[in-house]
Amino acid sequence: MDERIAAVEEMGLPAFRAKQISTHYFSHYVTDTEAMTDLPKDLRGEIQQRFFPHLLTEVRRLRTENGDTIKFLWRLFDGALVESVLMRYRNRVTLCVSSQCGCGMNCPFCATGQQGLTRNMSTAEIVEQVVRANQVIAAGELAEAPTSDMPGAGETALGAEADGPGDGEAANDEEGTATSASGPERVSNIVFMGMGEPLANYKRVMNAVRRFVGPAPEGLGMSPRRITISTVGLVPGINKLAAEDIPVTFALSLHAPDDELRDEMIPVNTRWKADEAIDAAYNYFQVTGRRVSIEYALIKDMNDHAWRAELLAQKLNARGRGWVHVNPIPLNPTPGSVWTASEPEVADEFVRRLIDHGIPTTIRDTRGSDIDGACGQLAAAD
Ligand code: SAH
Repeated sequence: MDERIAAVEEMGLPAFRAKQISTHYFSHYVTDTEAMTDLPKDLRGEIQQRFFPHLLTEVRRLRTENGDTIKFLWRLFDGALVESVLMRYRNRVTLCVSSQCGCGMNCPFCATGQQGLTRNMSTAEIVEQVVRANQVIAAGELAEAPTSDMPGAGETALGAEADGPGDGEAANDEEGTATSASGPERVSNIVFMGMGEPLANYKRVMNAVRRFVGPAPEGLGMSPRRITISTVGLVPGINKLAAEDIPVTFALSLHAPDDELRDEMIPVNTRWKADEAIDAAYNYFQVTGRRVSIEYALIKDMNDHAWRAELLAQKLNARGRGWVHVNPIPLNPTPGSVWTASEPEVADEFVRRLIDHGIPTTIRDTRGSDIDGACGQLAAAD
């Protein structure tokens, strides 16, 4: 807000204009200054230019048949393309945001990883995804949650572990979010599980998070626990995140408990080993008191063996109890990939073994897979 005040004063305007502009953007999701009737008419053009540059051009919108999931394809000012996915659940609306154009992590089973990295997204580009999604919700364009969306049953599309079953807290705190019979009227949960590795764009991502949690009209006034940052395991970034004063929900994409396989699945594992990544996740729990999530894409005959479930359980329990939740997801298909999802019985056995060791484990559904909008399927292209 201080920077906004300085910017309006630089224009020769009084400080209260910064608050007005902020309210339009963060509380009403308005970006067209012609609609800001409390601003002097002759200043709207300049304010538009200085404060509301055109950040995201909607190229395409795909929606699932029942309309409760929408995937957006956005073009950025320089032509780069990114996607975000909006999902309505019974009592929350989750937006899966991108933090980079493409991704430099090169994980072979992920469509984004196969694209390579074009550039980091700016804080404003990250925030704008949420504001635009809020406009879409306010316009009534995201359908109501289907009645079959049972409370506590899976409810787990990409990123839903921000308040996965057993967390027990998110369902009870709407944190001032307006709700109706069809759920919240705006994005209530944000997951950094779209394109990119958020911890590789640390500063801009954290600035976006500050805009999400800042009280209105400084920011969107969201709860940090409803924001999930997911990483392949950039250990210094995880430790830095733990030391921030914002206790977001943390998720580690582990996918294999042993280095031999993880080296192959997550190239950056050659730099930070599985045990170091798990240690950093445990440290995140210790510092913040927030239970962390382990993501595990179950790939047939690759990482879905019972012995790997045992090894994973052993490694997690060796650190402590009650600090972690495992969120396996059957692999979503990606173009040109030789891998397929585990058989349901194999996935069930994997889950059962973890649960037998006292580790809360829930399989994620693959919300959005029919519009290539599920985990690992985002590969923005015209
Ligand atoms: N780079 C971060 C953020 C992206 S999150 C990270 O990797 O955590 C996207 C999530 O989807 C990650 O957990 C990722 O491992 C997972 N994922 C990638 N490809 C997938 C696929 N084909 N099927 C299911 N999940 C996948």
